[in-house]
Order: sequence, then C-alpha cells, then structure tokens
Amino acid sequence: MKETKLKIRVFGAAVLRKKAVAVNRITSEHREILSQMAQAMYEGAGIGLAAPQVGLSEQLIVVDIGEGLYKLINPKIIKKQGAQAISEGCLSVPGVCIKVKRAKRVWLEAKDENNQLLKIEASDLFACVLQHEIDHLKGKLIIDYASFIEKLRIKKKLKALKTSVKTCKLQL
Ligand code: ZN
Repeated sequence: MKETKLKIRVFGAAVLRKKAVAVNRITSEHREILSQMAQAMYEGAGIGLAAPQVGLSEQLIVVDIGEGLYKLINPKIIKKQGAQAISEGCLSVPGVCIKVKRAKRVWLEAKDENNQLLKIEASDLFACVLQHEIDHLKGKLIIDYASFIEKLRIKKKLKALKTSVKTCKLQL
C-alpha cells in the first residue's frame, strides 16, 4: 500500500480550532480523502480521525475501534444517554492523556460515502470515539476538558509537543 500524503496536524495548528463546514455534495475527492484518512489513522495506530486533523476543515471522520471501518460525512449526534469517563489520547495532541466525561450511549446520523443516510447507535468506547471526533469538527480538543490542575500538568507538554512521545493507549 502506498503511504498516505496526509500529514497529521498537531496542537498549535489553526485548522484544529476551526469549525468544519458541512459537505453539500459528496464527490470522488471526498471518497479519496476518506480512504487516505483511514490509512493515516491506521498508520498512526489511532482508532479515529477527523478531517481537521489532516488540515481539511470539512465534516468528515473515520472510526475503527477494531470492529470495522466507518467513514462518516456530516455526523450529527441526535440523542445522548448516561455518562462515562475514559482516558483519551489524540493524534493531534501527542503525549497527553485526559480523562474526558462523555455520554455512555449516543444516537447519531451521518451520510456514508455513497450519500446514504446512516443511523448509528453506539455505546462505551465506540460512543466515546464518535464524540471525540465530532468535537474535532467543532474545533474542540481533549485539553479543553482538562481540570485546572491537569492544565498545569500538561502546560509544559503542550509547549514541548514536537519532541514528546505518545503515552496514551487510545489515540483517537
Ligand atoms: Zn483527536
């Protein structure tokens, strides 16, 4: 397999803080980007990736928690239930782990790459990853969930991000 041309953007890149725009018409370019994103996710040993993480401000995400690949366009959470808190890492914030409180179960609607409407009910890790990736589409990162103490703890890491190594098991 060819190596993907996509480069993962890390904390500090403006695109990570932008609101991604909805895709009006799904083109072959979107399909190509989605498969390249999937490849970049696998190469980074991640289980989810959102388009802003590869420099593209459009509402595209890929997710694979080991149960098959999802390529989702304009994903939208329509219902949430319960709560869970999992330590999350992020390919765009390497070396940082934050325990993030999220819904335990979500109901989501999205388009697939063939413009078909998908309805997904997800729980536990799958729900966590979907919420993490949809956050990326809103310009939100795991560090935004950090407590005051955690913010102090990661301050240096964020500064030294370029030389840090991945320490979190989950890279979303
Ligand atoms: Zn992430």
